[in-house]
Amino acid sequence: MYVKFSQRNYKIMKNKDYFQLFANCLIVKGASRSTICDLQTKEVFILPNEIADIIEKLNNRKSISSIKKEFLPDEGKIIDEALLHLESKNFGFFCELEEFDLFPDLDTTYKTANQLNDIIVELDFFDFEKLQKIKELARITSCKSLHFVCYFSLSKTELKKLLQLLKLKTLSTIEIIMKYHNNQDKPLFEEAHLSNPRFKKVVLHGSPFSKDNYFQIPFFSSKHLEAIFTDFSFCGNVSQKYFTLNQDKFLESLNFNSCLNQKLAIDRIGNIKNCPALDVAFGNIKNTQVEFITNELLNSKDYTKLTSIKKENIKDCKVCEFRHVCTDCRAFLSDPNNPLSKPLKCTYDPYTGEWS
Ligand code: SF4
Ligand code: SF4
Repeated sequence: MYVKFSQRNYKIMKNKDYFQLFANCLIVKGASRSTICDLQTKEVFILPNEIADIIEKLNNRKSISSIKKEFLPDEGKIIDEALLHLESKNFGFFCELEEFDLFPDLDTTYKTANQLNDIIVELDFFDFEKLQKIKELARITSCKSLHFVCYFSLSKTELKKLLQLLKLKTLSTIEIIMKYHNNQDKPLFEEAHLSNPRFKKVVLHGSPFSKDNYFQIPFFSSKHLEAIFTDFSFCGNVSQKYFTLNQDKFLESLNFNSCLNQKLAIDRIGNIKNCPALDVAFGNIKNTQVEFITNELLNSKDYTKLTSIKKENIKDCKVCEFRHVCTDCRAFLSDPNNPLSKPLKCTYDPYTGEWS
């Protein structure tokens, strides 16, 4: 696992008796093992808890020689090899005691200028009135991403009208999940993407085949799925392929719920919710003023009840080494009677380190 221990490397270490991780490399300790999450290179590196404990002590300004005294000589050699390996991977560096003050810890508070990051909209038909209100909500909250879940096929005219409506400066992504139709071809999505480059992803459910990027359109991703979506139960899957690591998501996860923070949903009948799959609604978009949502609802106890649940509060997830790269799900719970139970669709056991 670790790099070969050479005389040259040993000499370098001899001169520097301290080691610290770079501020962008953070240790996440789990029940059976730990990870180093490198927020710059986005690498998630798995390491034994024993080594993670040692690195934490080193980060707290304990010297390498004093730590090695707690171990047998052979174990001291393993520590040397581990540190050299971490250095070779650019996770940390050997240093003098005085150098610690030159490298302050990362500020782990999470701040954004916008009020919402995501709005999810469920649609059973093309409801232009509802969409106009969503546009206003997205504009006032400086929302970054809009996700439309259509249980029908948008026609070419409807798609054009939707994208024409949503040319908001602060919006960076429009994702559309809609029912497959055999008239959906490459020129349709090429033209749609060019008309509004925020439209970056389409998922076509109920397709005769499953394939990623069938259309091969630059800067646009498409997904054909055979599964037919009739409600929001397709969401909430937890798997390594959905793990994401970047500074914003990591800090958000440390401070808030990694799925529901700064997210609002409008379900198929217009109910305003944290997520379309949740039962609790905060009124209906048809008779709720956008100003009420932005000035009151988003700051209310009702809305923030779920957005404030962190991974550290969730049974089992709080001892998982992947907790800050994994998106939480509060709609589908492993124990419906416990609002702090682990997501239902996760098959990872942090106590054994195994997926079932
Ligand atoms: S709470 Fe679950 S179902 Fe709802 S958006 Fe998040 S992952 Fe999906
Ligand atoms: S145990 Fe929790 S944090 Fe770990 S992978 Fe599963 S859902 Fe994610």
